[in-house]
Amino acid sequence: FASRLDGLDAPTVWHEFSPLAQEYESINLGQGFPDWNPPDFCIDAMRQATDPKFNRNANQYARSYAHLPLANVLAEGYSKKWNREINPATQIATASGVTNVLYCALQGLIDKGDEVLLLEPAFDIYSSQVNMAGGTCVYCPLRPDLTSKGTASDVFTLDMDELRSKITDKTKVLILNTPHNPTGKMFSLKELREIAQTVLEHPNLIVISDEVYEHIVFDTKEEPHLSIASIDDGILWDRTLTMSSSGKTFSCTGWKVGWAIGPPHLVKAVTAIQQWVNFSSATPTQDAIALSLQQAKEPYQGFDNYYEWLANEYERKRGLLTKALQGAGMNSITPPGGFFIMADTSQIDFPYETIAKQPSEAMPSAQMPRDWALSRWLTQEVGVTAIPPSAFYSESNIHLAKDTLRFAFCKGDDTILEAGRRLNVYF
Ligand code: GLN
Repeated sequence: FASRLDGLDAPTVWHEFSPLAQEYESINLGQGFPDWNPPDFCIDAMRQATDPKFNRNANQYARSYAHLPLANVLAEGYSKKWNREINPATQIATASGVTNVLYCALQGLIDKGDEVLLLEPAFDIYSSQVNMAGGTCVYCPLRPDLTSKGTASDVFTLDMDELRSKITDKTKVLILNTPHNPTGKMFSLKELREIAQTVLEHPNLIVISDEVYEHIVFDTKEEPHLSIASIDDGILWDRTLTMSSSGKTFSCTGWKVGWAIGPPHLVKAVTAIQQWVNFSSATPTQDAIALSLQQAKEPYQGFDNYYEWLANEYERKRGLLTKALQGAGMNSITPPGGFFIMADTSQIDFPYETIAKQPSEAMPSAQMPRDWALSRWLTQEVGVTAIPPSAFYSESNIHLAKDTLRFAFCKGDDTILEAGRRLNVYF
């Protein structure tokens, strides 16, 4: 293989735990994807999107850069939300999910030797994409304070001095993620302001903000979802690429529709790469999401709009999973956003030494971390599978994951209740 794949050709945590869950018929609360269907209006929109009777260009290439029927709807929505006129033709890129948008952005922005700052735990795709772009990852951990009584936002704290100390002349990008995977933390206005001030002190530094869970947010009066691109009248607008997608919002992770929004000079970094990588992305899914975004504003299932229904549904599921974990003596770190719960597993006793001897291709550490072994043991013995957060840490900070596991609640009620029953029976 080419050297850009050095250390990156092994299977990932996703390749290890989903098959393991299947092998042991374990309830899989690992990989985060909804196990139910998108709302009917999305399915209808997709039918319409492929039907030449409705849309003459339905089945041909979309516009490269941004597919305008989608970009127009996005521009309208974000212009209102951010109180800024967004130009759909120059300030939006649409592509095959945020994974693809991010790949293009990093390829377009990062030179060999540039540094990219990641706040750990960080979704595993970030570091691999940075490495493939020739960049160097620099890690700043969110320090967990498991004694904090607050939500994940208080438990996982960012030490601003530590962040500042990691910035050098080579730091090109800071990747933010709010609501945060895996913790559910939402960055507060105070934190975002401090980050913005720090970024402004470094003229070459830009922010990529991954906000794919923007609509899965709960106590929004206490903790609203905030985009760093829009705070304080857009103080950081010129320096931010905001990314989001439809997969989580409309429960259609397989449709792979994502977008980046920002000033033309940053959006162009995405589109200039995209034109050579995938030229454009699938037309019907983009058209279907354009229609769905319009429909989502309408009343839905007794709620003022689809987004309210979605948040309410997930809040209920968060409650079900919290209860299920309590039954096993695991303390949930309440996530104010996203569809994962980080649980404190320090009280669980299990035969670490035996499990740690099992081969694991996906875990690069010489010694299997406690959370990794615990997730394997829970799968094999109890029949419940979680994701070990050590997959989201670099080697030097992996110890911070030791006493936590990430459980997904984007699953049917019956699935969550069955996981609770299994945990209760065992513990
Ligand atoms: N983002 C999802 C998660 O964290 C899915 C990850 C993936 O499939 N690579 O579980």
